[in-house]
Amino acid sequence: MNRREFSKSVVAMGMGVGAGSATGSRVLGGEPSGQYYEEPAKKLPVRKFDVIVAGAGTGGVVAAIAAARQGAKTAVIEVKGYPGGTATEGGTALHSFYNLWKAFPGVKKRQVVRGIPQEIVERLMKVGGCSGHAEMIQGYTYDSVCTCIDTELYKLVAFEMLAEAGVHVFVNTLLAGAIMDGPRLRGVIVESRSGREAFYAKSFVDCTAYGDLAAYAGAKYTEPNDYAVCNSVGMGNVCIDTYWKFLKANNAGGQLAMGMRSGQPDQIVRAGAERLNLPGLTEGARAIGMSMVTTTVHDNYLMFIKCNLKMRVSPTNRDEVAKTELEIRRRMAKAVELFRKYVPGCEKAFMARTSPKLCIRRGRLIECDYDITLPDVLEGRHFDDEVMVYGFHDSAPRLQVKNGGTYGIPYKALCVKGIENLYACGMMITSNHDAHMSTRNTVCCMGQGQGAGTAAALCAANNLGTHDLKYAALREALEKAGVYLKS
Ligand SMILES: Cc1cc2nc3c(=O)[nH]c(=O)nc-3n(C[C@H](O)[C@H](O)[C@H](O)COP(=O)(O)OP(=O)(O)OC[C@H]3O[C@@H](n4cnc5c(N)ncnc54)[C@H](O)[C@@H]3O)c2cc1C
Repeated sequence: MNRREFSKSVVAMGMGVGAGSATGSRVLGGEPSGQYYEEPAKKLPVRKFDVIVAGAGTGGVVAAIAAARQGAKTAVIEVKGYPGGTATEGGTALHSFYNLWKAFPGVKKRQVVRGIPQEIVERLMKVGGCSGHAEMIQGYTYDSVCTCIDTELYKLVAFEMLAEAGVHVFVNTLLAGAIMDGPRLRGVIVESRSGREAFYAKSFVDCTAYGDLAAYAGAKYTEPNDYAVCNSVGMGNVCIDTYWKFLKANNAGGQLAMGMRSGQPDQIVRAGAERLNLPGLTEGARAIGMSMVTTTVHDNYLMFIKCNLKMRVSPTNRDEVAKTELEIRRRMAKAVELFRKYVPGCEKAFMARTSPKLCIRRGRLIECDYDITLPDVLEGRHFDDEVMVYGFHDSAPRLQVKNGGTYGIPYKALCVKGIENLYACGMMITSNHDAHMSTRNTVCCMGQGQGAGTAAALCAANNLGTHDLKYAALREALEKAGVYLKS
């Protein structure tokens, strides 16, 4: 979609929402004369902040906490009723806080992502919502640890941490437009049942996954549509131990990780099938794009049985998404049916949770000052302005960071090109598909969030644009906040 088409869809969206908004739009009367309805201009109430974070998802939660802890008056705008984003809706586990030490004998074990992401894990551990950094016993050329979460407790913990940091959390609130002053973003338009409002700030971080704010602000973007979309079922009345035994009995035991489950250590928390060849189940799973990898932190629960579907067009297309939502819900019902029929211990399985909407792996790709390349990732390259280091690749062992090392995420990779005071964070950066298979993972998005949120607060405090911020000041603030920056 080009920028003009996007603006058209913005007009259309504003029309639908405005017509029923709490503040009320005037209906000018009669049938529309042409193809468009001209929405009457109206005065919007204004609120002012230092930093606005768009989207309280995987990266956005961390960005908002980081900005608020720097002393910035911070707002986070989230369309759903809870924070957490795709980390609580799509993936099987948080990948990865560590380097890939187990795949490279002799390489030292290092926790390479710390700071706020690690604090979230510790808070979750306290309420029984996390497996801990469970070591991979089998399949460790993929990852050395697997950090499994209780999705519902994650939402609560994230919400509480935002509140404790003093973030103004606007949930059930859609970010619906940008207020520009040339290349400078002045504010955003938000929509909720309290009406349409204008929120102003000095610095902004787009963590919407789709890059909505950057697109509204006029940033350059493309829509690669290079991944399948997905929804995932949480299945109740099942047993991961029996599932693992079943995989082993069929010579298909792949990934295995042991950690904390229902309050007990050294339990199976991740089990994945490898080359499962069972008539009925194997073809059935393939037909609905079902993955046979699962995690859990509870005895009778399998988390995230994924059903994938490759759309013909980008997942920003509302009408195609509607068709896909229906098809994926059919597939999830089928997934439960397959487990009941073929997997021992799952005879009475039921669908305990699904994501409220389909999850994407990429929406818009936002053009930033630097684009992380595949050699950057695989060669383990470092930069003189990095905000985090990372060592996981989702296509391992086919693609891995060299020698179990890390690469750096440079500050410039988060600066949206052409917009003076906007950062991009999470799955919307990195054009190369195989490089994106690393940078889009949850823990990398969280680390980027801490970098972008901290930078936004420093810029707001000193009235700077993204290009004027001195890296030394950012690095000092990140290191003080416990971010690991050793190469
Ligand atoms: C099916 C699937 C499986 C995955 N498996 C794994 C895995 O096992 N391990 C792993 O590490 N990674 C995994 N990933 C990748 C990872 O989960 C995501 O890439 C990452 O969570 C994205 O984080 P984000 O911050 O970019 O976006 P999100 O976490 O999606 O956050 C975006 C937030 O913005 C909100 N938002 C969007 N638009 C607006 C708007 N206009 N107004 C207000 N709010 C808005 C959304 O509601 C959401 O809360 C998986 C992804 C998918 C889809």
